[in-house]
Amino acid sequence: MNTGFRKKKQYGQNFLTNSAIPRRIAQESGITKEDGVIEIGPGFGILTRELCAAAKKVVSVEIDGELTGILNEKLADAGNFKLINADILELDIKKLISEEFDGMEVCVCANLPYYITSEIVMKLLEGGYGFRSITVMVQKEVAERFTSLPGSKNFGAVTAAISYYAKVKKLFTVKAGSFDPKPKVDSAVIRFDVYKKPPVEVNDEKTLFAVIRAAFSQRRKTLANSLYSGFAEKYSKEEIAGILLACGVDPNARPEVLGIEQFAGIANSF
Ligand code: SAM
Repeated sequence: MNTGFRKKKQYGQNFLTNSAIPRRIAQESGITKEDGVIEIGPGFGILTRELCAAAKKVVSVEIDGELTGILNEKLADAGNFKLINADILELDIKKLISEEFDGMEVCVCANLPYYITSEIVMKLLEGGYGFRSITVMVQKEVAERFTSLPGSKNFGAVTAAISYYAKVKKLFTVKAGSFDPKPKVDSAVIRFDVYKKPPVEVNDEKTLFAVIRAAFSQRRKTLANSLYSGFAEKYSKEEIAGILLACGVDPNARPEVLGIEQFAGIANSF
């Protein structure tokens, strides 16, 4: 089986070999027979098959055109599957949703290519596509970073930004030996339950993300110093310290101890 196909390292092609894992991913994704699903990187379709069984309709987006024939043949009997040969980072997802999932709630489910995990996750969250959930397999270390809470050393700018869009939960870990070829590290499946409405109100989202970026730009510096580096054109160091104090935040604190409520408070004062 799969003879003639050469796995492409540049596309992060580590294929699952044990069908118990995709079954569990589909189960724990919470996808139902009413839902539409976008899958990223179906590969040979081991997860796709489980998603087709769980959902009303599945649209899989695969960059590797060499897999098109194999996938269409393997899933011909599913009856609710469509393949799009494209790069997910280039694809117009709004258009895809309006053309393919009329009236359905849409979820994303994927064993992600690891070389672009963060780009894909941020595109899915920032795009405002109205997904109910995004269930993805990522490297274990990335899962730990994405699911970390304020106060932990793993909490960073991406995690803070994610917490504006979704609640993230680690579902289970998967050993490196469950893939072919075997990657260097273990993996984990995480689920983002996307907020219908953000948990905090901000006057301007751009300012919120600029504050988060500046706060984490120099992790060894205090919050006041990092924010000053990012906003020196607008505020003096003393003014920044004053804003932080008025928000109930210690100017000497480190950024990783702040939650999204505090970042929102600072952004609204800026
Ligand atoms: N779902 C399969 C599985 O679990 O065995 C394959 C997962 S493999 C980790 C990642 C898949 O994403 C590969 O099939 C790869 O070709 C595809 N891929 C890589 N970059 C992509 C991109 N930018 N857009 C869409 N698919 C991509």
